[in-house]
Parts: sequence; C-alpha cells; structure tokens
Amino acid sequence: MLRKKIKDILNSTEYGSLVCIKGWVRSKRDSKNVAFLAINDGSIIHNIQAVVDTPNFPEDYLKDVQTGACVCITGSLVQSQGKGQSVEIQAKTIEIYGTADPETFPLQKKGHSLEFLREIAHLRPRTNTFGAILRMRHAMAFAVHKFFNDKGFVYVHTPIITGADCEGAGEMFRVTTMDLKKIPVADGQVDFSKDFFGKETSLTVSGQLNGELAAMALGEVYTFGPTFRAENSNTSRHLAEFWMIEPEVAFNELEDNMNLAEEFLKYLVKYALENCKDDLEFLNNLYDKELIQKLNFVVDNNFIRLTYTEGVEILKQSGHKFEYKVEWGTDLQSEHERYLVEKHFKKPVILTNYPKEIKAFYMKQDADGKTVRAMDVLFPGIGEIIGGSQREESYEKLLNRVRELKMNEKELWWYLDTRKFGTAPHAGFGLGFERLMLFVTGMSNIRDVIPFPRTPQNAEF
Ligand code: ATP
Ligand code: MN
Repeated sequence: MLRKKIKDILNSTEYGSLVCIKGWVRSKRDSKNVAFLAINDGSIIHNIQAVVDTPNFPEDYLKDVQTGACVCITGSLVQSQGKGQSVEIQAKTIEIYGTADPETFPLQKKGHSLEFLREIAHLRPRTNTFGAILRMRHAMAFAVHKFFNDKGFVYVHTPIITGADCEGAGEMFRVTTMDLKKIPVADGQVDFSKDFFGKETSLTVSGQLNGELAAMALGEVYTFGPTFRAENSNTSRHLAEFWMIEPEVAFNELEDNMNLAEEFLKYLVKYALENCKDDLEFLNNLYDKELIQKLNFVVDNNFIRLTYTEGVEILKQSGHKFEYKVEWGTDLQSEHERYLVEKHFKKPVILTNYPKEIKAFYMKQDADGKTVRAMDVLFPGIGEIIGGSQREESYEKLLNRVRELKMNEKELWWYLDTRKFGTAPHAGFGLGFERLMLFVTGMSNIRDVIPFPRTPQNAEF
C-alpha cells in the first residue's frame, strides 16, 4: 500500500478509507484491550494517533512497539473521539521496522534539557523541538533563494577552499595534505610549494571577495554557503562552521545596501510567519511566549538608522554600567549593541559609518578620512545579525589601504584588478544564517539551530 504523509492525513476527511503511514512512535498509552500510539514522521509537528485493539494482534506483539520504534501501520481513517486531533487511525496491521529498547533509548522520557540533547545530536532530530527547528531551517533557506530569484539575482558558488589569507574576518582553518609528522621546510619556513595547491590554503571565512568578482559582470549576485572561523570563542552566538548569505550588488551605495538588508530580513521573517505556523506556535508556547509577537514587530516597523558615532554618544550618555567601556574607535560589544536595540530604541537598528580601524580594508572610505561606509544590522536578543558595506571602488584608495595595513598586495592582484578594469560602485553584506535562525525560532543558543554544531572541542557527530 502507498504510504501517506501524516501531514496530509491530518487534513484529510476521507473517513473510512484505508491508509498506510510510516513513522516513529512518540508515545504509547496502554489500557485494557486497547493501546494508543502517537506516531510522527517528520512531515509536521503533530502526531497522528493509532488506536490498536490489542486482542486483534498476537500476544506480546505490542511489547516491541515502544517509544522510539519505527513502524508501518495500515488501518482505516476515522474521526477522532479524543480532543486535540480530528482524525485517527484504527490500526489493522502493524509492521515493526526497528525496535527501540525502553531501557536504553535516550529519548524514552520527555522534557530533556537542550544541553542534554546536544550530547545526543544524532537523535535530537526525533524531538518536537528539533523537528520544528529543522523544518524552519529548510523554509528559511528556501525563502532566501526565492527572495533573490524573484529579484533576478544570480546564485554564485564561491569556493570553500581559499588561497587568500586576507579575507579579513577572523582566524582561519588550514587546509593541507602535508604529512604533519614530516612537514617540508625551506629556509626555516614551512614550504607550502610542496603542499597540494602549491600554496598555503584555508577554509573560507567569507565568499565576498569572489562574490564581488561576479557582481562586476552579472550585476546582482549572492552566495549562500558554509563559512569557517577558528575563533576560540565559546559564545552562544558563534560557531566554527556556519552558513552565510552574501549578496553583492553593482551600482548600489550604502543607502541601497541598507534598504536591501531591511527588505530581505523582513521578507524572511514574514515568510516564517506565513509558512511555519505550526512550528512557530510550538516554539512560542514552549520557549518564548513573545516569539510570534516579536516577529510581527520586526515586519511592521522600520529599522532605526544612525551612525556609529551617534550610537557611541547614546551609549556614553546612557549612564548604564557596561562590562566593556565604550570609547569612540573601539568595536562595539554585543552588550552595547543589545542596549541600543533592546533598551534605547526598542527596534532593530542599522549602525553605519564605523571607524576605519575596526573594519575591513575593502570598505569605502568617507570623506573625513576617519570612517568607512560600513553597516551593521543589530537585532534584539542577538546583536549583530548582518555586517556589510559599500566597497572601495577606487584602485588608488584601495591599494593605499592595502599598503597601509601591510597586506600582501601580490596575493590580492586578482581582487585589485576589478578596480583597474571597469570598476563600479558596489555594495553587499553578509547575513549569518544561524543568527537569523536564532531570531526566528526564539532559541537562545546557536548550537540549537544547526543540526550538527561545530564549536571548539566539539565535532563528534
Ligand atoms: P561578530 O562581531 O558577531 O563576531 P563579525 O563582525 O565577526 O561578527 P562578519 O565578519 O561581519 O562577523 O560576518 C557577517 C555575519 O556573519 C555576522 O553579521 C554574523 O551574522 C555572522 N557570523 C559571524 N561570525 C559568526 C560565527 N562565528 N558564527 C555564526 N555566525 C557568525
Ligand atoms: Mn561584522
């Protein structure tokens, strides 16, 4: 018999028809002569109830159908008597695909802590919480592509392995096939010419530099791929491996860049509200009673836009005691970003025109020579969710900056070439996909919005 998805069956009104479902037992309730099984197949957060008249089955057969087991059930669809569901299945046959010993199955009981679930990441997709998060992750990834596709952007696949050590966004993981016990040395230095690529290579920290190359031909492009940062920071907002969405747009200036970022974030949040209702309701009820309200708030309100300099002034005059002191010229800490968003403006904030010393070499310099056309989008509960800028399009200015920072200009030749041949104003930004997921799911630890998190000392699953 053809298997039906539980999602479709729960909406069906074909009472009396014979159906077949396949899924995992979430719970089992026994009473005299009848057992109630709650079955989930991942297609929707809700379970379907299978009612089993036990005398119709061989003695002890139901003993192997415990929480965690995988089964195939056929039976007739009936209107449910119980509350909480509209239809249920009156089971005729039950095939057991795989048993789960109640003595050892870690998810036998409900209500485990998120910390415990991280230790069993191989099984946590079986929980309601992670089912909801993974379905929403899919929905958000799809919405990202839909947003850009509808606007005519071209999805460009930028490389994961990079030879540029100057992407300028944190510590990198090295990529090598060298025998670590016999590293080739020349003149007292590691001889990377003997390595696989004939040069030192790493995992990318951003697709931007390559994205810019494509934007200088295709106009509007974006990348959406994994990025890697070997920062040894054990925070609730940093992963060593995360996914980033990076649009890059020819002819856009800072203002256009902000408009695109705001439109994009609102689109994604609205998409979640419209397409992930059941999962959102579940997360709202269990983790954050204000989640849906917060999502609606972001869609309905304009983001506040102000300069870094104005932001620093507000923080200094706030009288608030911060762990890190605020001074013009220093990078803002997450506590500062969140103060502006959560306490001062009570709205998402876009901070612009940061001091050039704390931003990357490629950002377009302002006329004052002190600041650059950077923009960070700051979100409640998160801090920075997007970082972006208008790029420096002048060959001379970019080269000067590269020299000022004593970067390796020879290695950057291909990037500098874009400014030599048909340069154009352009701008782009990076949205951390998991930071977005934190916001739309209401979860508070970034380890809980990616299936298999990579963090310092943790690459088990
Ligand atoms: P932060 O200051 O929060 O560490 P960043 O300024 O180093 O971030 P960018 O280089 O601007 O980050 O990267 C663009 C976006 O990628 C950030 O706005 C954020 O959403 C996301 N991001 C950066 N680092 C991480 C990380 N380690 N884990 C998850 N997301 C990240
Ligand atoms: Mn940033």
